[in-house]
Formats: sequence, structure tokens, C-alpha cells
Amino acid sequence: MEIAGKKVLVVGLGKTGRALVHFLLRQGASVTVSEKKTEAELGRKAKNWKRKGVRLETDGHRLPTFLEADIIVPSPGAASIPELNAAKKAGARIMSEIELAYHFLRGRVVGITGTNGKSTTATLAYKILKEAGRKAYLAGNIGTPLIAYAEKSRDDHIFVTEISSFQLEHIDRFRAFMSVFLNISQNHLDWHGSFENYFNAKKRLVLAQDEGGIAILNRDDPLVWPLAKEARATVFSFSTRRKVERGCAVSGDWILLAGQKQTKLMKTAEIPLRGLHNQENVMAAALIGHCLGVPAGLMRRSIRTFSGLEHRLEKVLSYGRVDYINDSKATTVDATIKAIESFDKKIILILGGRDKGADFTLLRKPVRGKVKKVILVGEAREKIRNALRGVAPMEDASTLRQAVSLASASARPGEVVLLAPACTSFDMFKNFEARGRVFKKEVRRLAQAFQGKKA
Ligand code: ADP
Repeated sequence: MEIAGKKVLVVGLGKTGRALVHFLLRQGASVTVSEKKTEAELGRKAKNWKRKGVRLETDGHRLPTFLEADIIVPSPGAASIPELNAAKKAGARIMSEIELAYHFLRGRVVGITGTNGKSTTATLAYKILKEAGRKAYLAGNIGTPLIAYAEKSRDDHIFVTEISSFQLEHIDRFRAFMSVFLNISQNHLDWHGSFENYFNAKKRLVLAQDEGGIAILNRDDPLVWPLAKEARATVFSFSTRRKVERGCAVSGDWILLAGQKQTKLMKTAEIPLRGLHNQENVMAAALIGHCLGVPAGLMRRSIRTFSGLEHRLEKVLSYGRVDYINDSKATTVDATIKAIESFDKKIILILGGRDKGADFTLLRKPVRGKVKKVILVGEAREKIRNALRGVAPMEDASTLRQAVSLASASARPGEVVLLAPACTSFDMFKNFEARGRVFKKEVRRLAQAFQGKKA
């Protein structure tokens, strides 16, 4: 693909947008950036870009800029921009960052999608491959944008890439050598308009593959598994509930790799992460390693030493025999359900934030009996209160600090205080990381005060 001299519009100047601009400049494209922040907000960055010949449209997006471009590359975060949809309707060529990268990339892409678990699975798979001596790279949301690897990539490189539904909406030639589809539940309905659009976008990762590819599918997900029939790639599956013909499954206390022969990978009790959903993530990551020839013994070692990611069911500390758990990344109802199911203790649950169009009534069943009290914060408070009426006592907090303090006051020895909000953080915080950090800070503050009182 020839990009030199083409008019390329990059929408959004986040981490991916910046990597795109660097790449496009090196390739000799004529680059315009459209960004909703003002030039002052972008600060020195903006001046640097301009000096390098980038045309900057700041303080909002203008349709003529979109219509003028030969190619539009939206950042993953720039999903719901009306100008993008209008340009699409007018026949503009829209290409996601992974599509553009793919035209220039050598080596193999392992693409991981699903509503939840992408980062955890990608990070673990990367660890397994690295520790087995493969030339693996972590790409996408938690790693480096794929485009940043494009020019220096080599045939023996493996790019473990977390791929969002939005990136998949604008692919054409992109083919993952290996695809992983972890699960699907409601998410991002605010962007995609309907569950069907969201699911269709995600399916493309698997359906785009040809006969030479490998697809790793969740055997237990009623929507994901039927893709096995449609896929042209060779299918492997994973299951916590049943035997699989080719793949990975839990059998009694063991995780088994199944194929022509069966190999014991490890005992489930050896997995350092809690919850059945993490067994799924581990099996998916192990299948990636297995399909790339990593021996079971090496994988077992890598998995046993994986401590999980920050803000995903992360134990902050215990005091007064109460465990405090930070799952700020639980921005979907399904992730919150999985978090609740990961404990066999009574839970004080902190819920709320900005709603993504979620159906909170799905929380009724898991909350009933298991959650002693719900503390509500953020914009979605009313909607959640209505959805959970009669299921558990609820209390309002105006800040996360107050929420932690109310939760702590309600918790008794042997119980858990869990932040798993089922909402995004954007009403009160910059991102889920900032929310998680505030939660941890407040927990530590209370714990110190408690120790001080005891001393
Ligand atoms: P993603 O990158 O897809 O957002 P993460 O690994 O960051 O996934 O996890 C996001 C949230 O979902 C966390 O709250 C985590 O505890 C939860 N989670 C992780 N894996 C799964 C899974 N397989 N199914 C459901 N929830 C999961």
C-alpha cells in the first residue's frame, strides 16, 4: 500500500493517534489531525506536530476536513464522533489502526477479542511466549499500538494484540494468524447502537481468517461457540464445564490440554488468580502458547508466576479481617457478576459511575443473598437503584471516598469490600486507573487509622 503523498486524517490524538502520526510522517503522508481538545490543552505537543508539518484541527471536529481526506484513521477512543458516521455515509475511506498496520506488518498477529478478559489474557500469553524465548510483543490497548511496530517488524515476530470491537469495524484485509474470542455480553451499546452491531464487529476477527489460521473459541459461551461452524480457520476451544476435542478444559482438579493425546497442564488450584473467569483466561492464553509450540511445563511455570493486572480483582489489603478488592476495571455488568461470583464470602459492593447503556437488572440474581449492602456512587445511581430495588439494602455516597468509608463501616470480619462498579469512571475520574488509585488510597488511609487506634 502506498501512503506517501496521500491526505490522511487521524481522528483523536491519544496514544494510538500519536503513534499513527509518527508512522504517517515517516511514510511521507500529508497528515491532518482532528482533535476535540483545544490547542492550549494539547500544549507543547501541538506546536511540535505543527513544526513537523501536521495540520491541526483542534477544539472539535469539522465535517469538511473529514470529507477532504483520502483516508481517515480514527483512534479507538474516537468511536462515537458524528462526523465520522457522516463521512462514512458520504463514501469516505475509513481504516482502523490495525488495518493500516497490517498492510505494513511482517510476522504474525495473535488477535484477542471479547467483552472481558482481553488485557489479562493478552498479558499472560505474552508472558508465556516471552519466557519460552519467542520474539513476542504486546500490542493494542495495554501494550503499544500495532502501528508502532509496523516498520521494524520481522517474519519471526509475534504480536499479541488486544483488539476492540471498534477496531474491527473498519478492517478489510486484516487477518489474524490466531484469533481468540473470549466471551460476549452487553457493552458499548452507546457506541454501536445495538448488541447485534457490537457482536457483528467482534465476529469479524474470526470470520476474516482463512484456512491457514487458528481460532480459539470459548466452548461455554452460547454466542461465541456457534462461530466454530462459520470459521474457516482450524478451531480450538476451551471449557470449564466439559471435555473438548481439541483445546483446553477443566477436568476435576486439573486443566488438561486435549488433542491427539492429552497432557496435564496444571492443577486449577495452582492458578494464582481468583474466579472461574480467570480459569478461562488462563486456558485461552495456554492455547496460544500450545499452538505456537510452547511445552506444557514451561507454560505452567509462567502461569504460576503471573500475579494478574492492577485494577482487576486486585487485593489491596486486609484489615479488621475484611478484604478490600479493587476491580475498577469492571466497567461492564458481566465483569461485576464475575467479580461477585469469585468470592464465597459476604460482599459490600460499590457500584456506579457513568452508564454505558447497561442492563443493571442482570445484577439482581448474583447480588441477592450474596451482597450484604450496595453503596451507590456516580451518575448511574438512580438507574441502578431502580434496577436493584428489593434485592439488597442500598446507600448513597457522593464521592468514592465516602463510599469506601460507608462500605468499611458496614463490613464485618470475614467479609469483602469490593469495588466492581459495572460502569465507566468518566463521570468522576479521568479513567478506571485513576478511580482504582483513589479507592486504594482511601482503603490505605482507613487501614492506617484503624492500626493507629489499635496501637
Ligand atoms: P478487557 O481488556 O477485555 O477489559 P481485563 O482483563 O482488563 O479485560 O478485565 C476487565 C474486567 O473484566 C475486570 O473487572 C476483570 O476482573 C473482568 N474479567 C477478566 N476476565 C474476564 C472474563 N473472562 N470474563 C468476564 N470478566 C472478566
